[in-house]
Amino acid sequence: MTADTVLGNVAALSTAMAALAILESVTPFRPKDAWRRGHLAANLGLNASTVALNLVLGIGGAIVSEALRGHGLGLLAGRAIPALALVVVGIVCLDLATYLAHWLMHRVPAFWRVHRVHHSDPLVDVTTAYRQHPLEGLIRFAFIMAAAWALGLPAAVVALYRLVSALNALLEHANVKLWQPLDGLLSLALVTPNMHKVHHSRAQRETDSNYGNILSMFDRLFRTFTPTVRAPHVEYGLDGYDTVDAQRFASLMALPFETVAAAGSSRHPGRKWTATLVLLAASCGTALAQGPKLDTARIQEITGLQGAFNEEEGVFKVTSPRIDTTVLVDGWAMPPFMGLTSWASFQSGAGGKAMVMGDLVLLQDEVNPVMSALLDAGLEVTALHNHFFFDDPKVYFMHIGGEAPVEQLSRGVRRALDTVKEIRAKGSNPPSGFGTPPLPATSAVTGKRSKRHWA
Ligand SMILES: [Zn+2]
Ligand SMILES: [Zn+2]
Repeated sequence: MTADTVLGNVAALSTAMAALAILESVTPFRPKDAWRRGHLAANLGLNASTVALNLVLGIGGAIVSEALRGHGLGLLAGRAIPALALVVVGIVCLDLATYLAHWLMHRVPAFWRVHRVHHSDPLVDVTTAYRQHPLEGLIRFAFIMAAAWALGLPAAVVALYRLVSALNALLEHANVKLWQPLDGLLSLALVTPNMHKVHHSRAQRETDSNYGNILSMFDRLFRTFTPTVRAPHVEYGLDGYDTVDAQRFASLMALPFETVAAAGSSRHPGRKWTATLVLLAASCGTALAQGPKLDTARIQEITGLQGAFNEEEGVFKVTSPRIDTTVLVDGWAMPPFMGLTSWASFQSGAGGKAMVMGDLVLLQDEVNPVMSALLDAGLEVTALHNHFFFDDPKVYFMHIGGEAPVEQLSRGVRRALDTVKEIRAKGSNPPSGFGTPPLPATSAVTGKRSKRHWA
C-alpha cells in the first residue's frame, strides 16, 4: 500500500462521512429533537483511533500477504485464477470471516466486553460507524487476515474489501432516511442501513441478529436475519451505559477492562464458541499445510505468456508458438502447432524455489544471443539439436533448465523470448551467413601446419 493509496482511502472515507453528515441534516431517519449531541466528542475520538489503527494494520497486513504469496503459501496462491473471480471469492470469504468475528463478539464474554463500546451508543449516526475500541479493530483484523492469508489473497483484494467495508459501515450507520421498500429490496443481497439499525436495538433478541457486514446472505444462511422493517421502531443503546459519565471517551476506552455489574455486561454467556474457534484454527491450518504453491499468475505476468496447470503432474506450462516466421520442411510450410512451439514448465521446489524445464524453438542467428540471455539470468542450457531434415530456415531446439525463485526463472524465460523478438524484428528470416566477408578460397592454414600446431 503506497502513501498515495493511504491518502486516497482517507480522502474517500472523509468525503463519504461529510456527505452523509450533510444528508443526515437534510433527510434524517430519526427526528433530531430526540437526540442528544453529547456522544459526538467521544465518537470522533474513537473514529480517529479506528482509522489510524486500521491504516497501520492495513499496511502491515499487505506486506505479509505479498510475502506469503511470494512463497506460494495459501490455497489460491499458486493457481491461475482470473482477477475478477479472485475479487469475488475474496470478498465473499472475507465477509464470511467478518460475520464470524462479529458473531463471536456477541458470544464470547471477553469479546463482548470489547464490542459493547460500539453497542452502547444511545444514538446511531455516521459517527457510530467507527465508534470502536482499538481491541475490536485488532479482533476484526485478525479474523480477516487469517482468512486472507489462508486463501493466499493478493493484498489489493484485501485492501479493496476493507475499503468497501469501511464505506458501507458509514452508510449503514448514517441517520439518513431511506425509502423502506428500497431498503427491503437491497437487503436481499446487501447489509442495508435499516438492516444494521436493527442490530443496534436494545432488545437482545434483535441485537443478536443481523451480524452481516457487506453481504446479507450469511444472516439468511445462518438464520440470524431480522427484517429491516423493524428499524424505525427499535430503541438504540445498551442498558446500564446511558449515563453521561459512561459515554465519555475515557470511560469507553476503559470499558473492556471494567467488571460492571450492569444488565448489559452479563447478558452474553459463552456458548459453543470454543468449538467454533478450534474449527476455524483447524481449517486455517489445513489451508497453510497445503505447502508452497506456484505463483502461476506471477509466471504469466513476467513471461507475458498464457499457461495451463496440470494437476496430476503439479506442473504449470507456458507456451509460445513461433508465428513470427514461416518454416518450410521439404518445401511444405509447417504450422507452428506441429512442433514449432517454445515452452517452459514450472514446478514448485524445495526451500521456496521453483524448477523450470523447457524447449525453445530457435533460428540459427538466435542461438548464441538466446544462450547468453539464459546464462546471464542464471538458467542452464542443457542441449541444442535439430528435429527436421531439409528445413528452411534451419530450426534448432534448445533445452533449458534451472532451479531458483520462480520470479528469476520467469524473468530468464522472458529475456530469452524477448531476445528472439528483437532479432526477428530486424527480419523474419535469418541471414545466410555470419555477416562477415567470406573466407578466401585458398588459405595459409594447411593440414600439415595445423597438425603441427595442435601437437
Ligand atoms: Zn454487534
Ligand atoms: Zn453498528
